[in-house]
Amino acid sequence: MATRRLTRRERCAAGRHTPAEIKEGGDGEIRRAQCRYCGAPIMRTQATRIWFAAGRMA
Ligand SMILES: [Zn+2]
Repeated sequence: MATRRLTRRERCAAGRHTPAEIKEGGDGEIRRAQCRYCGAPIMRTQATRIWFAAGRMA
């Protein structure tokens, strides 16, 4: 294959987590979930629409 897809660990290492279960709640601006691959707590805001590790923001 010409291009190699990122592995799960590589995606997580790059900060591109994949939510396994989105938990509604909170203030409505933030969605919280847990990465299905590394299990890290992740969150996303309506503005950025990008999942990122929540631990660093704590
Ligand atoms: Zn992850």
